[in-house]
Amino acid sequence: MSEIIVAGAGHAGLVAAMKIANAGHKVIVYEKNKREDCGLDQWDCFAEHAMEYAEICFPESYRAENNQITFVPLDEDAPSLTMPESRNDKTLKVHRKEFLNRLIDMCIDAGVEFEFGTRVISPVILGSRVVGIETDKGIFYADMVIDSCGVESPLRSKLPDFMMIENDYKKLDVLNTYRATFDRLMDKPQPVNRYNVILKDDGVKGLSWVVTEKNEVDILIARFDSFSDDDFNETMKMLRNLYPHIGLKKCSGGEVTPIPVRQPLAVLVADGYAAAGDSAFMTYAVKGSGIAYSLMAGTMLAETVINDTEGLYNCDSLWEYERRFFKEIGFDACRIAIMKNCLPYITAKEISDMFKNGLITSQELEYFANIDFQTAVKTKIIQLIKDKIRVLNGNPEFRAKLLGIIVWLGRFSVLEPAFPNRYNREDVIRWKNKYNDFFDSIRKPIE
Ligand SMILES: Cc1cc2nc3c(=O)[nH]c(=O)nc-3n(C[C@H](O)[C@H](O)[C@H](O)COP(=O)(O)OP(=O)(O)OC[C@H]3O[C@@H](n4cnc5c(N)ncnc54)[C@H](O)[C@@H]3O)c2cc1C
Repeated sequence: MSEIIVAGAGHAGLVAAMKIANAGHKVIVYEKNKREDCGLDQWDCFAEHAMEYAEICFPESYRAENNQITFVPLDEDAPSLTMPESRNDKTLKVHRKEFLNRLIDMCIDAGVEFEFGTRVISPVILGSRVVGIETDKGIFYADMVIDSCGVESPLRSKLPDFMMIENDYKKLDVLNTYRATFDRLMDKPQPVNRYNVILKDDGVKGLSWVVTEKNEVDILIARFDSFSDDDFNETMKMLRNLYPHIGLKKCSGGEVTPIPVRQPLAVLVADGYAAAGDSAFMTYAVKGSGIAYSLMAGTMLAETVINDTEGLYNCDSLWEYERRFFKEIGFDACRIAIMKNCLPYITAKEISDMFKNGLITSQELEYFANIDFQTAVKTKIIQLIKDKIRVLNGNPEFRAKLLGIIVWLGRFSVLEPAFPNRYNREDVIRWKNKYNDFFDSIRKPIE
């Protein structure tokens, strides 16, 4: 029996903890919050297939309608564009606190121990290996540490260079996100569409959404730059002008938290260490939805740990987790991250014009909504962009931006075979350098 530490009660860490404990190992989760304070006060949506992958049962009440997103452009003359409903994947909607509580209960049933109210400060390293964690309650040792501390992980950010794990994220790697619900004013005009993504604030790097629920209105304001109170108040004013049914009474939420919207770490593992979930930037880069990826990654990591019957938990044995992650999720996640990279430099006006000129049609959106998005990105998107570029001769600047995406996707497909299927330090160094250099190079034109 091995002793495994899970740092942070994030989704990936909890799934891994439960499965590893079920296999007979001793697992302790160290979480900075008290149990009742775990998780944001908000509803999350994610794909049902992730629960099947992680073999987690859920109540029928989790099932929700698939979100039908309407993009609201800058120009009032330009029509809004509503994405047809995806018939491809089923959506679950969970309250963050309730879902985390359910996962914690499942962990306890599996024998996982919890130390709530314990802040992890840094990794403890002996030679080339992570051997434990330093916390505000003392130092704790284990055979392996799973980092599930989220985007600001104090473990990932303090690993030494020779472990090859990127410590910090860069400016456009996260969206600073305000999320809250307000009362819904039924006596005011109601919006035609339920789920509106607003691309009105030209010059702002980011987006906002207004989602109308039964009794409340869900507001999200996301910025690549940090935003001031003035910026926030201006945006709220703009949203209330557009949607007078947003009340003044805040019902839940109201925090600003960073969501990673970037490619996953090039290297997820070191001797005695593996990162999973937001600590390894495993989100769906366009939207920052990371719960599905986290549940799947937690499952892959647990299976890798359980299969390491000698209890080595070193780069060699943990590389199988990294290999599976990249093959099943990571490479597709990278393609989405590449496309996201153009968001901060395509202006709201350009998107507006695209809608106005019929450059994107709802038939095209319908086609994409009904095939797997990852497949679309891999196989169809390049042809679509090429077709659009042909008709964009009158707008050379925007044409160049779209052309940039094709070049990036092409360069990435050349890079993919450099991924080592087995751990070999030289090969991993080569992979890490190529991967990080590539993402640095496509960031440069916009920063
Ligand atoms: C506003 C917002 C809306 C989102 N909406 C969605 C959505 O609708 N669907 C979706 O799929 N995803 C959504 N996400 C993303 C989602 O939250 C994450 O991708 C997902 O939770 C996976 O993250 P995680 O579990 O790895 O990390 P986190 O959720 O960040 O969990 C990390 C855990 O570690 C703990 N921790 C942190 N530091 C320490 C420390 N020093 N010591 C001990 N414990 C520590 C934290 O308290 C927390 O419990 C949203 C994110 C935000 C911010």
